[in-house]
Amino acid sequence: MDDIGAWIRSPWDRPYAGWCTKCEQVVQLVGLTALFAEHPKTREITGNSYFAHLLGQCPACFEGIHLLERVLIDYHGNIDAPWGTTQVYPPRLRRIPDHLPPAVEAVYKEAVACEAAQVPMAAATMIGRVLEEIGADADIKFTNLVEIIPALVKEGIISKRQGETGKQVRLLRNDGAHPRELRPTQQDVERALVYLDTLCRSIYETQHLAQALESRPEGREVMHSAAMQVEKK
Ligand SMILES: [Zn+2]
Repeated sequence: MDDIGAWIRSPWDRPYAGWCTKCEQVVQLVGLTALFAEHPKTREITGNSYFAHLLGQCPACFEGIHLLERVLIDYHGNIDAPWGTTQVYPPRLRRIPDHLPPAVEAVYKEAVACEAAQVPMAAATMIGRVLEEIGADADIKFTNLVEIIPALVKEGIISKRQGETGKQVRLLRNDGAHPRELRPTQQDVERALVYLDTLCRSIYETQHLAQALESRPEGREVMHSAAMQVEKK
């Protein structure tokens, strides 16, 4: 561990950059500190490797940024990071909710990629596509969002309030998809994606969790015996 000691003392003879989601740009990290873990396969042919967790901050807004770098220290004591640096936090791409139907997931991924690429008109269009795919997955026969959103509310798949917000998202999609004076901004897109996140979690993650909880044998027994007692009364 002697060589790593030297690296800990001065690991940043090169600048470390990360993506600040608040400032929406690549920033050079300040206030860097590092934590090390031995790589499970530490003995490489050419040297020893370690995981370096680099913790720093955005110089503008002080948002914490966490990078992970696999460091190789060769038998001559030379330090290199041949596998590159990955950003752990904040994620560069918005997280996509779990358990999405494949067709919903495919368009959702494109919406998130458009947001990261800062192309809000394209992102707004893809956000509308996500709502359309949610409708198709729920066997809603309509193809227009004007009809799909109320139908989702009527079927109880989304709440009345989610439907109201959905109307605003539809208008945003129209501003992105059609020639309009009013163009969606990056902030509009962020808000619409937060909406989609809560919507998809409430539809698909809740459904998945319900199935998982129902499959608990103890859970089912408890519910069954409680129901029996009610019946006896
Ligand atoms: Zn920042």
